[in-house]
Amino acid sequence: MIKVTAIETGKARMKTAQRTGRDDRGPIGRKLDIFRDRDWVEPLPILCFLIEHPEGRFLVDTGDTWRNSVPGYLPGWNPFYRQVSIKVAPHEEIGPRLLAMGIDPTGIGTVILTHFHHDHTGGLDHFPHARIIGPRANHAVSTGVRGMMMGCLPQRWPVWLAPELVDMDGPALGPFPASHPVTRDGRIVLVPTPGHVAGHVSVIVRADDVTYFLAGDATYSQANLVAEKTDGVTNDPAASLATLRAIKRFAADEPTVLLPAHDPEGPQRLAARRPLL
Ligand SMILES: [Zn+2]
Repeated sequence: MIKVTAIETGKARMKTAQRTGRDDRGPIGRKLDIFRDRDWVEPLPILCFLIEHPEGRFLVDTGDTWRNSVPGYLPGWNPFYRQVSIKVAPHEEIGPRLLAMGIDPTGIGTVILTHFHHDHTGGLDHFPHARIIGPRANHAVSTGVRGMMMGCLPQRWPVWLAPELVDMDGPALGPFPASHPVTRDGRIVLVPTPGHVAGHVSVIVRADDVTYFLAGDATYSQANLVAEKTDGVTNDPAASLATLRAIKRFAADEPTVLLPAHDPEGPQRLAARRPLL
C-alpha cells in the first residue's frame, strides 16, 4: 500500500510572466519580461508531498521557511528575489505541518529534492537525521554565487547538509531517457525533467491503482503542461518544452495524476485520483 499526501507549507506569488513565458522569447528576454510585468498571479501553494511506502516515509521537497521574510535573509543585491513573494508562517513550515498530522519529522527516512531552489530547500532544517537525496546535475549549478543568482540560497542551507547526490544512471523509462530508482521495489523512481533549471528531476510514484507524477517545478500548473507553455525563468526553453512533452507522453501510457509543487488544483486532483489524460 502506497499513499501520497499533499502538504501545503505557505504561499508563493510570482509575476504572470514567470508562471508563463512567451514562446518567442529567449532566456534573457523572459527575465526582462518578469521585471517589466506589473501583474502578479494569485497566491500559489508551496506544496510538499509525503509518500508512505512499505520501505518507509519519503518526503518530496521541503517548502520554504518563515525566515524568508526576515530582513537580510534574501541577498539584497539580487533584484530577482523581489519578483517573488514568499509568505510562510512558522507553523506552516513542513516540520510543524507533519507534527500536526501526527508524524514526527524524525520519522521521515528520506527527503527527495526535485531541485535546490529556496522554496524547496527552506524546510531542510527539520530533517537533520534523514537521508537527503538530490540531483547532482542541479546541485552543481546551485552552490556559491551562481546558485545565489539562480534562486538558491546555499548560504542558508543547514551546516550539516551533505545530500546524497544522484545521477540519472538507471534505464530509460517510457519517454524519459534515463531514471534513478529510489526504492528497492522500483515504485518510487526519479526521472530527468530539465528546463525550469538544469538537472531538475521529477518523482514517479507507482501506487496500486494509479501513478503519481510529482513534477516539482517542471511545470507550474497542469493547464500550462497541457498547453505546452514553458515558464519565464528557464534558461533553456527547448529543454523545458521537451520535458513537458515527455510528461504528456508518459501520462498517455498509464493513468497519471500530475502533482506540481505550485499548482493550486493539484491537491483536488490527488484527492479525486483524477488522471491527466
Ligand atoms: Zn524552482
